[in-house]
Amino acid sequence: MTLRVKVAPQVGDDLEGIHSPVVIVGGGQAGLSMSYCLSQRNVEHIVLERNRIAYEWRDRRWDSFCLVTPNWQCQLPDFPYPGDDPDGFMVRDEVVRYIEAYAQFFNPPIIEGVSATRLRRDRKGRYLVGTSRGELIADQVVMATGPYQVPLIPRLTERLPDELTQLHSSQYRNPDQLPPGAVMVVGTGQSGCQIAEDLHLAGRQVHLAVGSAPRVARFYRGRDVVAWLDAVGYYRKAVNEFADADTVRFRVNHYVTGRDGGRDIDLRAFAREGMRLYGRLTGATGTTLRFAQDLRRNLDHADAVSESIKDSIDRYIESHGIDAPTEPRYTPVWVPDHKRTEVEIRNAGITSVIWSTGFGRDDRWIEVPVFDGRGYPTHDRGVTSSPGLYFLGLPWQHTWGSGRLSGVADDAAYLAERITTGPDHVFRWIAGTPNSTFPRDDEWVAPRTVA
Ligand SMILES: Cc1cc2nc3c(=O)[nH]c(=O)nc-3n(C[C@H](O)[C@H](O)[C@H](O)COP(=O)(O)OP(=O)(O)OC[C@H]3O[C@@H](n4cnc5c(N)ncnc54)[C@H](O)[C@@H]3O)c2cc1C
Repeated sequence: MTLRVKVAPQVGDDLEGIHSPVVIVGGGQAGLSMSYCLSQRNVEHIVLERNRIAYEWRDRRWDSFCLVTPNWQCQLPDFPYPGDDPDGFMVRDEVVRYIEAYAQFFNPPIIEGVSATRLRRDRKGRYLVGTSRGELIADQVVMATGPYQVPLIPRLTERLPDELTQLHSSQYRNPDQLPPGAVMVVGTGQSGCQIAEDLHLAGRQVHLAVGSAPRVARFYRGRDVVAWLDAVGYYRKAVNEFADADTVRFRVNHYVTGRDGGRDIDLRAFAREGMRLYGRLTGATGTTLRFAQDLRRNLDHADAVSESIKDSIDRYIESHGIDAPTEPRYTPVWVPDHKRTEVEIRNAGITSVIWSTGFGRDDRWIEVPVFDGRGYPTHDRGVTSSPGLYFLGLPWQHTWGSGRLSGVADDAAYLAERITTGPDHVFRWIAGTPNSTFPRDDEWVAPRTVA
């Protein structure tokens, strides 16, 4: 394939006053996809990355991390998964290499080690992008700053005894990083479940506070469930086709794993093997943690969702006359026989807590009035109401794959089209002022993305 590479204007250390038609903030898969699509259209642009390419995959995932989505779903623009295991699940370092190889494939005009620290518009409607190396001017800006920016940790951590080691899931690397003893994992989204499994397999006594996240089976009737859902058309469904689009956007991901070729995560099976399960964490007093009495309901809910996905696959198989092996349905392998609502940390030998309680965004540096009451960006398929300002890589920006490796290509191509037709130069504040934010900084809470 021939590439028309658009190189960055020659820039030195000082970015002050440089004018670029487009500035992309973020050098993860979204920022790179955007850069590629603009390069293909010969649109001059600059990508700013405060760390280095693929930073999130390299530095904010645990050592045994592997993709939950099969490799064939890695579909960056014109750069599908290049390996020989499309149905497998790349481990962390392979994902990093895939993203790095993508950058080598088209040589994006990226400047690493530069943070964008302020974004505002001038009276001509141009964007002023304040950075750690001076202020750039841009006609259009794409925010590809990642969906999972700020760890969300409940403030009750502050009341727990000092001797406990406490980490957010994005800081967890491996069991040896923790002091000897039992580990409390709080939260059962994808990260919490996989970290609990990692510790459990390493022989650690795990205590797990189970939330309301759903689960999905890895395989069903001879195929990976992701392959079935792809055939069903689920991944092509746009968020605005759902009656409850806003709920869909913020829904917690289903838990399952790609580890060792892929398998279910069945918390009941872990419990049977000795993991201690509780309901949602509700509070702490001294050295006692308290939980809601919702463990049974949460486990039942996760199973019900998983079974309902199988129902939809069955319907698809039947209606299309597909010859697929039948498979017995799941029967619970363990049922809680207790209403355990407390654990005393010292008696249980718990020496560390891992908060798998999700992530939020911090867009306070963006002084353009495109945010909702929580501080979350408002947009239509990434296009904001501020002409020339776009977001890319948001969960469910357009489809299920938008915040993932499978769907960012479509969204980047869509935005590239919008960018090349040029921003609408009508300059209109819909709320607020360019230089003030509400609520005040000391009252600010990061708006939640999904765990
Ligand atoms: C635990 C976990 C597991 C996941 N598993 C899968 C999976 O199996 N399959 C899948 O498809 N997806 C998965 N995802 C989702 C998604 O693919 C990743 O979150 C991915 O990293 C998103 O890519 P991105 O480019 O949108 O954002 P990021 O990778 O977060 O990149 C954003 C970049 O922007 C930079 N940046 C941010 N702010 C600034 C600034 N102000 N100035 C300059 N640079 C800035 C950051 O340094 C970062 O490098 C997972 C996510 C998590 C958290």
